[in-house]
Amino acid sequence: MADRHVAHLLIGGGLASASCARWLREGGAEGEILLVGREPDPPYDRPPLSKEYLRGDAAREDAFYRPESWYEEQRIELLQRTSVMKLDTEAREAKLSTKEVVSFDSALVATGANVRRLNVDGAQLEGISYLRAFGNSEQIRAEAAGRQIVLIGGSYIGCEVAATLTQLGAQCTIVMQEEVALSRTFGLEAGRFFQSRLEDHGIRFVGGDALERFEGAERVERVVTSGGLSLDAEAVVIGAGVTPDVMLARSAGLTLDEELGGIACDERLRTSARGIWAAGDVAAYDSVIHGRRIRVEHWDVALQQGKTVARSMLGEDVVHDVVPYFFSDLADWASLEYVGPAARWDREIVRGSYESGEFSIWYLDGGRVAGALSVGRSADLDDARRLITAGVTLDDDELARLGDAATDLAQVGPAQG
Ligand code: NAP
Repeated sequence: MADRHVAHLLIGGGLASASCARWLREGGAEGEILLVGREPDPPYDRPPLSKEYLRGDAAREDAFYRPESWYEEQRIELLQRTSVMKLDTEAREAKLSTKEVVSFDSALVATGANVRRLNVDGAQLEGISYLRAFGNSEQIRAEAAGRQIVLIGGSYIGCEVAATLTQLGAQCTIVMQEEVALSRTFGLEAGRFFQSRLEDHGIRFVGGDALERFEGAERVERVVTSGGLSLDAEAVVIGAGVTPDVMLARSAGLTLDEELGGIACDERLRTSARGIWAAGDVAAYDSVIHGRRIRVEHWDVALQQGKTVARSMLGEDVVHDVVPYFFSDLADWASLEYVGPAARWDREIVRGSYESGEFSIWYLDGGRVAGALSVGRSADLDDARRLITAGVTLDDDELARLGDAATDLAQVGPAQG
């Protein structure tokens, strides 16, 4: 028997839930909205954690999605430091860590992801950090400024944190499995461009190698790689990816996508249980844009999906058809934006030039635009979204125009609808 009833239960204290709450109210939802999250802070943007917040240039409040007072104004009940322990999809009831049982009309599961921990020898030593929440960012700032740091992982966390810590006077070395940083998503050429920007500022890269173990007495002192290198380290930051948090979903019996690691959703972000949606890092959904199921771990995707779920909860027949977007800033040395994601590509066309520092790269799969990267050419991304959505195969003339910065991209592919 439930202790109380709410119209909308939003599980997870991140941006997907916050955005869903916002769009429920903006869409005219009258009923109770309860947002339950484990963290002590209200929902916040994570991008500043590796940039301005890590640098010490921003306060926690600057990263909040909305100030705490907004939730009260909007009649959104925010339960912080609280977990949903059990979800009964038949009875539509949730048991909270406070022991309260809440029944609901509709629910969103947006439980996010946890960092992937590397359990090598020495992993328990002091001075080894992961980055996910405010507290981690503060700890890294305190431990790493002005010291010799080794970062494990050559992707967003590794590169962004190394850039910021270098600004704070640290000497950074990145150990990565990839030969070239950021090349998994952006390819070798763009990866080399970003890596060389970082190298120009003194960051060292050890590519094509893996972490073997950490050494030290109580604190980490050295990182030993599989390739046999022994690197002095006064602190270590690990950015080895995340794993979606499906614990609650699994115990509730929601269908999971074991391959993508997430909750299996249809093109409307509906899970296998009626009246329950998923969004954010944990949602593996059938994308009508990509013609396959995808799961994307980026802040803007969580916001967009939260909005789709809100509209759907309010009875609109809405398919999630937003092209995923994200950005990354490497200090103020290089900023990138990307739409896609391309699962694979067989050709890259560059528009603009690396030398000028302003270029786009079009990632083509069988003549179709599957993704696009922009460095200083944001306007190209609108055309990229249009072309990704259209999914049309471009002819040779159109492909040539993509690479010619003097031509108007409106002439490529079908006209904007
Ligand atoms: P990520 O982008 O998923 O990249 C994971 C990195 O860890 C890859 O370089 C991967 O190498 C490496 N890795 C995986 N297993 C490893 C192992 N056993 N040993 C050493 N390296 C290993 O993850 P992230 O950079 O840690 O970021 C975490 C999350 O935060 C992601 O969801 C990311 O999207 C998000 N984030 C986003 C931004 C942004 O959008 N600007 C910024 C920061 C964080 P391989 O590719 O060789 O496996």
